[in-house]
Amino acid sequence: MEEVRVKRRIVLVPVPAQGHVTPIMQLGKALYSKGLSITVVLTQFNRVSSSKDFSDFHFLTIPGSLTESDLKNLGPYMFLVKLNQICEGSFKQCIGQLLEEQGNDIACVVYDEYMYFSQAAVKEFQLPSALFSTTSATAFVCRSVLASVNAESFLLDMKDPEVSDKVFPGLDPLRYKDLPTSAFGPLESVLKVYCETVNIRTASAVIINSASCLESSSLAQLQRKLQVPVYPIGPLHIAASASSSLLEEDRSCIEWLDKQKLGSVIYISLGSLALMQTKDVLEMAWGLSNSNQPFLWVIRPGSVPGSEWTESLPEEFNKLVSERGYIVKWAPQMEVLRHPAVGAFWSHCGWNSTLESIGEGVPMICRPYTGDQKVNARYLERVWRIGVQLEGELDKGAVERAVERLIVDEEGAEMRKRAIDLKEKLEASVRSGGSSWSSSLEDFVNSLKTKNSM
Ligand code: UDP
Repeated sequence: MEEVRVKRRIVLVPVPAQGHVTPIMQLGKALYSKGLSITVVLTQFNRVSSSKDFSDFHFLTIPGSLTESDLKNLGPYMFLVKLNQICEGSFKQCIGQLLEEQGNDIACVVYDEYMYFSQAAVKEFQLPSALFSTTSATAFVCRSVLASVNAESFLLDMKDPEVSDKVFPGLDPLRYKDLPTSAFGPLESVLKVYCETVNIRTASAVIINSASCLESSSLAQLQRKLQVPVYPIGPLHIAASASSSLLEEDRSCIEWLDKQKLGSVIYISLGSLALMQTKDVLEMAWGLSNSNQPFLWVIRPGSVPGSEWTESLPEEFNKLVSERGYIVKWAPQMEVLRHPAVGAFWSHCGWNSTLESIGEGVPMICRPYTGDQKVNARYLERVWRIGVQLEGELDKGAVERAVERLIVDEEGAEMRKRAIDLKEKLEASVRSGGSSWSSSLEDFVNSLKTKNSM
């Protein structure tokens, strides 16, 4: 009988940003553990960690001449649009060459939803492809909704406080103002990018870094809408943890945490892109200092406009943080969240940070900056009920109160119980037999075998 040869190579196409690189590399690790070979296609702008977790992966870089200063000048959204234009041709060439060299062995091109240029090559070479979403299913649903609104009238609605506070029809409990509009570009250009990201074209599957215990109804809604299998395979940081930090982690904060009381510390981090105004930094410092709780604060260099790091902040800042605070430029976040001294996470609510916090059973103070972070913050407060959202102008009194609610009050203890309950559900979903690992990841891998047997 003729032997059936099954194609084994997965081509991954990550977005060059920490919050996207981390989960797609973890996905690569999960697929590798199922016997697939991994090729990661990078643009010249990408960096990936050289962690030994990926030593068996094959890396290729396609030409494209965008620079750090292009990112600064264009802003993240127009940068992505430009990157997609520049990379379409070179990616086609790269895939053509790969097919020749590897003997037609590509089982699937798995591309980040924001790297939609990948679809041109997929179409030309008639390859199976899957879209990988690094946001929640709920945020995907929201982007689909926004992709079909009229930008002008939506802007008017958003400017009217009465409307923007109302629940958006069909998306309860999300309000108009919780929808993932962005601080990184004008609404019109953001909506154009959303149209591209939610258009799955010929992709035969959508993979999401989420789990059904978190958002079953959004996942079901997406499944109905997209008409291709939707695989919630997350949280990947539990299923296939891999070190993929692009910045150097300052581990001295772990020693500092070792000296703090159980459950007493507020860990503060706003991820890899969010910015903070000096006046908000000061309100935060006042509120944290007044709360009398210890705090570990990640202040990324360049995240406070007008200041390299903290040196140009008013002297008052140093006084406020010197007593109970510890500041680093970048932390080993997973290790910090796992530390028994950490009682709450003040976060911008990026999807990775959200999953990582829930995965450690840590309740959150939610201060979203932009995009899908607003969706996640609303879910943390209203659906999972493990967070307190700080809305409107940041004010030291509100900061102090939020810390008290989470760390001191009974309300915080209740939130922690719910967070631990969710943590256990997440862990179960990525165990053998669980919904993410067995049903979703294995179904996806099996679907490749049927599609690719020759
Ligand atoms: N992170 C980290 N150290 C820090 C701050 C953040 O390792 O000091 C990691 C964090 O664990 C998460 C990622 O950076 O995996 C941030 O991703 P997220 O989706 O939360 O936010 P984004 O950076 O995309 O806004």
